[in-house]
Amino acid sequence: VATSSGTAALHLALTALDIGLGDEVIVPDLTFAAPINAVIYTGARPVIVDVDPAYWCIDVAKIEEAITPRTRAIIPVHLYGHPCDLDGVMEISKRQGLYVVEDCAEAHGAEYKGEKAGSLGHISCFSFYANKVITTGEGGMCLTNDEELLEKMRILRDHGMSPEKRYWHELVGFSYRMTNLQAAIGLAQLEKIDAFIEKKRRIARLYAEELSATEGIVTHPEMPWAKCVYWLYSILIDETRVSLTKDLLAEKLGDEGIETRSLFYPLHKMPPYQKYASSAYPVSSTVSRRGLSLPSSVKLREDDVVFIAQKVKEKLNETVYGLHQSL
Ligand SMILES: *Cc1c(COP(=O)(O)O)cnc(C)c1O
Repeated sequence: VATSSGTAALHLALTALDIGLGDEVIVPDLTFAAPINAVIYTGARPVIVDVDPAYWCIDVAKIEEAITPRTRAIIPVHLYGHPCDLDGVMEISKRQGLYVVEDCAEAHGAEYKGEKAGSLGHISCFSFYANKVITTGEGGMCLTNDEELLEKMRILRDHGMSPEKRYWHELVGFSYRMTNLQAAIGLAQLEKIDAFIEKKRRIARLYAEELSATEGIVTHPEMPWAKCVYWLYSILIDETRVSLTKDLLAEKLGDEGIETRSLFYPLHKMPPYQKYASSAYPVSSTVSRRGLSLPSSVKLREDDVVFIAQKVKEKLNETVYGLHQSL
């Protein structure tokens, strides 16, 4: 079901699952904010859960602790192109009778144990915003194997109107359609998706080759069971090894003409979501504080990537603790 945006897709999915007032939906603390916003639109209460230190996606053990009798669904976000532990999430969902809405906005083509991200949850939501792996300018999509949910999402997307009887409304729907123009761009983008993913992974390999032996840097993870599409290739600064913060590194790289992005801020720290904080979030707080996304466009040339990595190393080497003293 193609939609006008990824956020619309998430809202449509939750509405089709009849999630609303009195319900709870579990979301990760470290993500772009669209999934928690979509939960709040429905009237349900978001429950924020910390992430796994190894790969930055929702921590499955902590999902379990956050479940209450009101919990209806989990939204695992495949962050920066890395899939969540979907076996873990699906096992909890089966045992506890919860829906899983996969947020694949950053992970088109990513794989979990050889299965595409977006093929295991009850509904999966994609975004085709301009900065995603493939784009329609603005746009999104819901996928499901459930015919009934599919039909319901189609009706909800188009004002809740009956497909048989024009202007007869069966549900309180939305205006969340994708236009034909956007869809045409999407089809053309789809023809290039394999090349884009290959390029993203090539960029990641080059960064990893250049940076993995660098003191003070944790490179973008890829778990043995994962195929990451590295939507934004991201690194963590090891503050115990280097005396510069990621903000200072970003500034120094900026002086060289290299634009970087901070990782997402933990949801629980931001004004609209503070009231939903239900525990300490040590992992998302640390990963966010230490993390920087490096240039990741498929338009980068290989020598651009090597240049960027060398500049990162240069800036860090200037500050490795003990180095100057021992020399
Ligand atoms: C971009 C993004 C969205 C929302 O996409 P829009 O199309 O901009 O509404 C949702 N979730 C995540 C994790 C995203 O990165």
